[in-house]
Amino acid sequence: MIFEQSKTLCKKGGAHSGKEVIMICVNPECDTRRLCCLACIDEFHRKHELISLYKFNDMLKVLTEQSLPETKSAIIASVSDF
Ligand SMILES: [Zn+2]
Ligand SMILES: [Zn+2]
Repeated sequence: MIFEQSKTLCKKGGAHSGKEVIMICVNPECDTRRLCCLACIDEFHRKHELISLYKFNDMLKVLTEQSLPETKSAIIASVSDF
């Protein structure tokens, strides 16, 4: 799941409405890995391990980039059969 450059807003209402999701909770005690806005962090994820959405995106990017050379060499290998 790759997050686009566009802002992701918190889906919880009330104090959360219109707040941008900026962090992801990776605390194992949270049943699901939660997307957090500032209000979420304040309410549900105090002292939890959080990673920023930007860092998460970078991690995904690195994974995608790492998988590319394999795909490339696979294509080259299939072409060089000729
Ligand atoms: Zn929220
Ligand atoms: Zn949490």
